Amino acid sequence: MTEKTCQNDFDIVIVGGGIVGLSFACELAGSDFSVAVVERNELRAVSDEPECRVSAINRFALQQFKQAGVWQSELTKRACVFDRMFVWDQTGAGQIEFDAVELGVPELGVIIENNVLQHLLLETVQAAENIHYLCPEEISSIDYQPKDGGQTCSGITLASGAQLTAKLLVGADGAKSKVREVASIQRQQQAYGQQGLVCNVATSEPHQHTAWQCFMPTGPLAFLPMYNGESSIVWSLDDAAASEYMALDDDAFKVALAEAGEYKLGEITDVHQRFLFPLGHGHSSDYVRPGLALIGDAAHSIHPLAGQGANLGIADAAALAEIITQARKAGRQWTALHTLAKYQRQRKGANRLMETSMTAFKELFGNDNALLSEVRNAGLSLVDHLPALKYRVIRQALGAQMFTCEK
Ligand SMILES: Cc1cc2nc3c(=O)[nH]c(=O)nc-3n(C[C@H](O)[C@H](O)[C@H](O)COP(=O)(O)OP(=O)(O)OC[C@H]3O[C@@H](n4cnc5c(N)ncnc54)[C@H](O)[C@@H]3O)c2cc1C
Repeated sequence: MTEKTCQNDFDIVIVGGGIVGLSFACELAGSDFSVAVVERNELRAVSDEPECRVSAINRFALQQFKQAGVWQSELTKRACVFDRMFVWDQTGAGQIEFDAVELGVPELGVIIENNVLQHLLLETVQAAENIHYLCPEEISSIDYQPKDGGQTCSGITLASGAQLTAKLLVGADGAKSKVREVASIQRQQQAYGQQGLVCNVATSEPHQHTAWQCFMPTGPLAFLPMYNGESSIVWSLDDAAASEYMALDDDAFKVALAEAGEYKLGEITDVHQRFLFPLGHGHSSDYVRPGLALIGDAAHSIHPLAGQGANLGIADAAALAEIITQARKAGRQWTALHTLAKYQRQRKGANRLMETSMTAFKELFGNDNALLSEVRNAGLSLVDHLPALKYRVIRQALGAQMFTCEK
């Protein structure tokens, strides 16, 4: 336990201090809720060399962070603003461009290393009197006995032997969520048979604060602009192709990557260590039970081709925090199923739509059928020339909520 007042009975225990768990904790910083965050792994220190895992964070998520006081320290310098997205189909002439100026917004989002974002969130969590950050700590067992009508109180035993209780148990513990398991919530998980090859690269042409995305029959390839002028790539490849690209020496990989990206950023002049992440998608049948809620990848995970997984989780965190805060203020049962069900109603449809769209995109673009190639090239160019439709597409990516409050 930390030096903050030692206690074991919490209003809320959040299992998982990844981007989403910490975002939820930040939403509750300074509130009347007593909160514990239990995280298994210590956060890697921020080093001079940028991390390979980065996230495109949309405008809605950024606004949440700013409101929670997260976006204040020197570390925000490691976030690279992007104000343009350029998407094209390698098998034809179809392309689409989104520009912040054209959309009347200052930026489309930022690219930030995952561990830098977690450090930023952790600064707010650790400064909050009402939040205990228990790390490294692991859940050993959970005693969850749902009582709707009465108040559910979960007992949590940690690997260190410490015992906690929670009126609301929040699973922010990723795709293999233990919280989901103890609540017997079903999940259909499917592997894409693809890996995301990620690494940072230097290029001979500047990235122009643009997120570049190329669709190929073998899978999408993204070049995301970084604060230091380099780009972070996410290349989705079938398992066999991913192994082949991993086995190439650096010089051969540089050529293969520049060819795949059609030299939009010139030659690849330097390449850092490459890593693979298995890609899949899945959705939980329910997000809530009495006294229990799932957020982020614990509730749903999607293909990273549009960089939306963490953004959806941050939106979950904001919605859940708002709903329980309002219920408690109004003197209602804030952990009861009928209250938590509002969170599920608010978020599940939007998350499901994004998951289905990403799978459809993957199928449509991951196919070298000539007819499909014509359809998608025509489709991309059509959307590019129809401002109303283009606006609808981008508002989903930037966080639709942003546009409701701004326009
Ligand atoms: C290649 C790739 C690129 C991506 N790019 C983007 C992007 O650009 N933008 C975007 O929005 N999303 C992106 N995503 C998706 C995004 O990374 C995930 O959706 C997001 O990280 C999920 O966060 P989370 O906190 O819900 O889960 P996780 O990141 O899985 O965190 C769960 C946390 O819980 C902890 N934990 C688990 N079990 C226990 C336990 N029993 N006890 C204690 N702690 C526990 C884990 O240690 C971990 O820290 C990408 C994904 C991939 C694979």
